[in-house]
Amino acid sequence: MRIVIAGAGIGGLTAALALARTGHDVIVLERASAVSPLGAGLQISANARRVLVDLGLGDEFASVATEPSRIVVRRWQDDAVLGESPLTGVHDALFGHAYASVARNDLARVLVDAASRMKNVDLRFGAGVDNVTVEGPHVTVLSSGAIIDTDAVVGADGIHSVVRAVVNGKDSPRFSGWAAYRAQVPRERVDHLPAETTNRVGPGAHVVSYFIGRDRSHLNLVFIAPESEWTGESWTEQTSLESLRVAFDGWSGQLQQLIDAVEEPVYKWALYDREPLATWCNGSVALLGDAAHPMLPFMAQGACQAIEDAAVLARCLAGPPMNPGETARALKQYEATRMERATKIQSISYFNRVVFHYPDGDEQRARDEMFGSDTWSRATDWVYDHDPLTVPLVSGRTELA
Ligand SMILES: Cc1cc2nc3c(=O)[nH]c(=O)nc-3n(C[C@H](O)[C@H](O)[C@H](O)COP(=O)(O)OP(=O)(O)OC[C@H]3O[C@@H](n4cnc5c(N)ncnc54)[C@H](O)[C@@H]3O)c2cc1C
Repeated sequence: MRIVIAGAGIGGLTAALALARTGHDVIVLERASAVSPLGAGLQISANARRVLVDLGLGDEFASVATEPSRIVVRRWQDDAVLGESPLTGVHDALFGHAYASVARNDLARVLVDAASRMKNVDLRFGAGVDNVTVEGPHVTVLSSGAIIDTDAVVGADGIHSVVRAVVNGKDSPRFSGWAAYRAQVPRERVDHLPAETTNRVGPGAHVVSYFIGRDRSHLNLVFIAPESEWTGESWTEQTSLESLRVAFDGWSGQLQQLIDAVEEPVYKWALYDREPLATWCNGSVALLGDAAHPMLPFMAQGACQAIEDAAVLARCLAGPPMNPGETARALKQYEATRMERATKIQSISYFNRVVFHYPDGDEQRARDEMFGSDTWSRATDWVYDHDPLTVPLVSGRTELA
């Protein structure tokens, strides 16, 4: 079958590889002119890493990844350890693959290189999708003045998805009230730090840090701080180190030292998500990744879920060429297999915006006690244990049967 994917983010690229491997001819249309150097870091847990390994990318991924030894939660004022979840020898033993952190552009580069080795993937940068039209069994894509007829369209075009409107009508992203400042420190300035993922939690804000890059070239820092409204034209903008210092005034001395060590520029992202959708499909058009289930980054699972989507989508569309009715049924099967899990993770991520940000007081003390318990360190086992390569495929809705 001929399949057009809108968007060459982590989700679209993984889907392209997975679909091409099962024999489809895939065109990926990406609006940007190249892989973006922006985007800082991603934590990739076993549930997603197993898909990359299955695509034959295990070694390439490992060469750009860091495997943190533990996740540690610290108190904002003094860096006291509130809880820890050991990773080395635990995550890999329990779930089959080690927990990893990577630079987003390194992972994108691994996927782009793999796509360029496949004859049946046509990856086009500088080719935005302007519109998708579904007329009965016919699906057409309008991209930079060209009209492309196709058997199916996958909207992997992120939170501001154009394809989403074809499935769901127009809806608006929901501003969270938080912004993410994304900064990096070169390794030589923090070489004394262990390779850990650290989450410093405080009133209304938190800071996540972990190493990324080949040979741990940088410490990636994501500062989440309240933002009353987003007034800028852009969804991302550069900001000053000074604004970080102001937002995190009073936090631990160790955090102040990290801020001092930051290599500018610092980027500021408005954090948005959307309400869960009732459906991800319209006929031969389906949504994937942030286009389907954009989530706040408070479980570090948005890209992992996009990768899982890609694996399941390819399984549902595998086999001999399908007619439009069969394609629609296969996409419903993809939706039925994926929606409950992705929506649950989307909802918990939304809920964590409260839990991570309690002001000091009774709720914060109860939460900190929870961070110190075994319950917390095992609370997300169900997320990591999942295998999208073998999970039973759920039948689509009966009206399509
Ligand atoms: C601060 C922060 C930290 C995060 N940390 C993690 C983490 O640790 N682990 C994790 O798993 N996730 C994390 N995420 C979430 C993760 O970044 C996203 O969920 C993930 O990138 C979604 O991938 P995607 O491919 O669906 O969408 P995107 O990455 O948004 O890719 C969409 C692509 O589509 C392109 N595009 C857009 N419109 C069009 C169009 N009309 N035509 C053609 N192309 C188009 C875009 O240019 C882009 O390349 C984090 C997010 C944030 C904001």
